[in-house]
Amino acid sequence: MIIRVHARWVLPIAAPVIRDGWVDVDPTRGEIVGVGAAGAPGPVPATTIDLGHAAILPGLVNAHTHLELSHLAGRVPPASSFVAWVRAMLGVRFGAPTTMGEVVEAAATAIASAETAGTAAVGDIGNTDAAIGPLAASSLSGIHFREALGFKADDAGRIASETRLGAMTAQGRLAEEGCARVIASVAPHAPYSTSAPLIGALSPGRPVTWFMTREQPACPVSSIHLAESPEELEFLSSGTGPFRDLLTDLGSWDPDWQAPGVAPVTYLQQLGALHRDLLVVHGTQLTRPELDVLAGVGATLVLCPRSNRWVGAGVPPVADAVAAGVRLAVGTDSLSSVADLNVFAELAALRAAAPAVPAATLLRAATLGGAQALGLDHLGVLAPGASSRAVVRVPPADVEDVEEWLVADAADTSDLRWLDTLVAGVGNRQSGVDSGH
Ligand SMILES: [Zn+2]
Repeated sequence: MIIRVHARWVLPIAAPVIRDGWVDVDPTRGEIVGVGAAGAPGPVPATTIDLGHAAILPGLVNAHTHLELSHLAGRVPPASSFVAWVRAMLGVRFGAPTTMGEVVEAAATAIASAETAGTAAVGDIGNTDAAIGPLAASSLSGIHFREALGFKADDAGRIASETRLGAMTAQGRLAEEGCARVIASVAPHAPYSTSAPLIGALSPGRPVTWFMTREQPACPVSSIHLAESPEELEFLSSGTGPFRDLLTDLGSWDPDWQAPGVAPVTYLQQLGALHRDLLVVHGTQLTRPELDVLAGVGATLVLCPRSNRWVGAGVPPVADAVAAGVRLAVGTDSLSSVADLNVFAELAALRAAAPAVPAATLLRAATLGGAQALGLDHLGVLAPGASSRAVVRVPPADVEDVEEWLVADAADTSDLRWLDTLVAGVGNRQSGVDSGH
């Protein structure tokens, strides 16, 4: 059975908005089988739903978060400089006793609220397995990145192996729980916390991490926090400043380390760690020449403007990134640096940071951009073969530009419904009628 869902606006994302459009859904496969405009020729399915004044768009993709930090919600206050915030975060994370059960429960609660806010997929960073159970039990698709940290070059081989083992264990648990929607990969944390050989060891083509088993090749997608703060630029350029003090205080300083003396994107290039499947997260300090390099390589810049503001890191160069043609995605980062995991709220912050960027560009980043970056072919668009895990929103009656409303004013998601849930309800009632119950 196919169910046709009409709405005032249908947003395929990979094509212009359809006014008075429809989406045909096969509820048994959870798949979209057609998208079109009212009055288009062709057979009309027997079962139709008219949502009236509503918009249908793909489920949103939160390309960067740390679900296992959800128990820190509201516990790390905003800071005026990034390293001050990092020190406060480490103090809270490792200072107060927290049980694994509390961490897991907070991750599950965060996932539930993300689902309520229209999120269909995540790029989740983790140092432990805490988020794996909640992810497997949820509706979310995506990648769980096992994160590597370690600034001492001598530790690189050991940490790379441990990180790979962590990703393999996570992958095994996901498989055990019957979850094929989420896969595991590895990711270095950032240039100021992860040594050059460790970043290199976690890059494509390095056998230490780049296979899981002979049967299952590893996910090629990786992620790194990059050019997040002015302090990171100072550290890479001269080896001085608050990051050097922090590493020294943590006992992580490597006395043999030499500052590379280059900008963050150049540094990654030199390590062979800049590639098309890389998610470059934050980038508040990226210059136009670096953005041009990212565009040329095809890496994705993940924008997290609310977290950047919270940690005192700056404002991402959204308009310059768009002008350079960089592939873009949207992330919230963790609940230790943002009030919620609501991607619509992140879009509103992006709109404020880039008033002249077309709404369609920002919407694409929050859907198709993230889906492509994470290799999720079934998400990000409304098109035949795509998932029916799509979002239904009800704009105010006087809205004329629905894309602008979704980007600027749609952070209150109390009207939000899921297309697949809505269609499943109708399908069940229909099959109940058909079989005489
Ligand atoms: Zn992060």
